[in-house]
Amino acid sequence: MGASFDLIVIGGGPAGYVAAIRAAQLGLQVACVEAEPLLGGTCLRVGCIPSKALLESSERFAEARVTLAAHGVRVGTVELDLGAMMQRKTDIVQTLAKGLDGLFRKHRITRVVGRGRLAGAGQVVVGDQRLTARQIILATGSRPADLPGVPVDGERIGTSTEALSYREVPRHLIVIGAGYIGLELGSVWRRLGAEVTVLEFLPRILPGMDSELAAEAQKIFSRQGLRFQLNCRVRSAHVEGNECVVEVEGGEPVRGDRVLVAVGRRANTAGLGLDTVGITPDGRGFIPVNENFQTSVPGIYAIGDVIGGPMLAHKAEEEAVACVERIVTGVGHVDYNTIPSVCYTEPEIAAVGRTEDQLKEQGVAYRKGVFPFLANGRARTLGQTEGRVKILADARTDRVLGVHIIGPRAGELIAEAATAMAFGASSEDLARCCHAHPTLAEAIKEAALAVDGRMIHA
Ligand code: NAD
Repeated sequence: MGASFDLIVIGGGPAGYVAAIRAAQLGLQVACVEAEPLLGGTCLRVGCIPSKALLESSERFAEARVTLAAHGVRVGTVELDLGAMMQRKTDIVQTLAKGLDGLFRKHRITRVVGRGRLAGAGQVVVGDQRLTARQIILATGSRPADLPGVPVDGERIGTSTEALSYREVPRHLIVIGAGYIGLELGSVWRRLGAEVTVLEFLPRILPGMDSELAAEAQKIFSRQGLRFQLNCRVRSAHVEGNECVVEVEGGEPVRGDRVLVAVGRRANTAGLGLDTVGITPDGRGFIPVNENFQTSVPGIYAIGDVIGGPMLAHKAEEEAVACVERIVTGVGHVDYNTIPSVCYTEPEIAAVGRTEDQLKEQGVAYRKGVFPFLANGRARTLGQTEGRVKILADARTDRVLGVHIIGPRAGELIAEAATAMAFGASSEDLARCCHAHPTLAEAIKEAALAVDGRMIHA
């Protein structure tokens, strides 16, 4: 049996489902093929959303145990109900996935459950169904990267997927990789009582983030009890009874009861039938596309993690909208210079634009304004005064080139910076905008004033 559509999207994650919805809005007959019973992709099922649920819950737990007393709130004995915490996470995921089903119904998008594979130009096979369409978008996302010598068994040695669902708090969690996943999930389990050791190959944590902020973050996380071994090359890992043994180069083996492998992600292209149409992934496994997100084959497009770049849900969503709009209207745009990134640790770390390291490397003359949350009234009332805002502006034009924040709700604050940069704002523009008092956002205004050496409150 077969059915014909204007557009088939393979993948129902933030890239795929957004592409399907936008295409339906623009009047196309759309089918979306997704292997999993839930829409939403890695982000919703085993990524952003469940991790944020656990981050929030574990922060509440730590707050009840440690910081509420400083507010004059006594809560007596605090106990962890891990089952309830996990159930809350699952409920959030299910509710949001149902919401996506509703959006698909509203937009009359045909949902096809199963693994889709190309079978020649304009053809997609799902099980025994053969679907045809004039346009196909590949949005198959990514999966955790393997680490040679470290066999993931899904039990003792696992990826973020397992670390989002441990049935008990590990005694000693060994995290391989001090990137987003390692630090977010390492923080969750540290707060819930595990010993956590993070092994990182590089001499620093959070590669790609502004190095000054990453160094500050490392100090803060160390105070929270995360142990870091930097410059640490993992050779192998194995399980001995109930214990995991991680062998590292030039050092003693690290022993714990769980290992989380978080060393990046790889594009999902296996079994996608790329060979049937003549698409060849690049050396890093990504599907090459041109500025219209078109692959080497006319009528076949690719977006999101599978094409590389920052592996972020919101980057994928932007590409989805731009790709579909280019197909239907001929115009659509992604501003890759203003894509924010957020690490949801406590405090959060958020950034948009270029880092100070990049500006130095590129020989760009810049001015820098920094404002500490210690001097922000709202941060004081929250009892969260760690961190700072750093604004980097072009020395000649004053245009904002990068904003880097470590501190309370940095992930929300960065939206102002991203919007300002998208409109080509100068630091003077930011400094002259009225910010409500008392708010954390005032730290952005003050950092913008600091670019010109005229902050008021520090
Ligand atoms: P990552 O690229 O952020 O970090 C991986 C870390 O592992 C790096 O620091 C790297 O140097 C280190 N590493 C690599 N090989 C190693 C080895 N052999 N031994 C020790 N360390 C090693 O990757 P991630 O944390 O796995 O996250 C995967 C992707 O998911 C990232 O692209 C990230 O952007 C995305 N993500 C984003 C968020 C967020 O936006 N909040 C959260 C989670 C994941």
